[in-house]
Amino acid sequence: MKFVLASNNRGKLREMKVVLELMGHEVLSQNEAGFFGEVEETGTTFYENALLKARAVMEATGLPAIADDSGLMVEALDGKPGVHSKRFGGEGLEDEDRNALMLKTLERTEHRAAQFVSSIVCVFPNGDIVSAEGVCRGSILKSPRGSGGFGYDPIFLVEGTGKSMAELTLEEKNALSHRGNALRLFEKRLREYEFDKRNR
Ligand code: IMP
Repeated sequence: MKFVLASNNRGKLREMKVVLELMGHEVLSQNEAGFFGEVEETGTTFYENALLKARAVMEATGLPAIADDSGLMVEALDGKPGVHSKRFGGEGLEDEDRNALMLKTLERTEHRAAQFVSSIVCVFPNGDIVSAEGVCRGSILKSPRGSGGFGYDPIFLVEGTGKSMAELTLEEKNALSHRGNALRLFEKRLREYEFDKRNR
């Protein structure tokens, strides 16, 4: 199936494109599909924000659109920054500044458990919605490690690997990440949706 990816985040786009193409789908970025807007993320959940982005891009392009809304939830911060992960510390910060701020915030805590969450939402031109969520558990390191990925990857130790998310290859990250897990569940639900549609 042909999808538009409703995101301007280069890291997300790269990861989603690889997974969806391996599943046999054709994907276009929103820019390639002629959408250059920025959708305001006014929702209070990952799902709501993903739905806002996917719906806006579907309406502008007329094609099924898939959005990811994701973030980092730190237990010692009661699940923050969560849906505000992109803006943690304010607008205009670089990923490195945000990571430094997170390390400083957790300087005095040994309780460093955290998880990444991804909500994938696809909106079809007829208004139908297929969605899925994925998580990746881990903990916040005491200093950054690795240079791959994006965002909080260098300070996130992936449970069971001994590696930061930024020390994984793109393929390794997709095999373990919140976004990879969400996309695999999404694919399963997409097949069920297509089966149901054929048999309606
Ligand atoms: P969104 O575009 O509102 O979904 O913002 C997602 C934000 O969450 C990103 O800007 C990152 O700060 C963070 N984030 C989400 N997924 C990842 C990931 O895979 N690695 C590192 N940071 C991530």
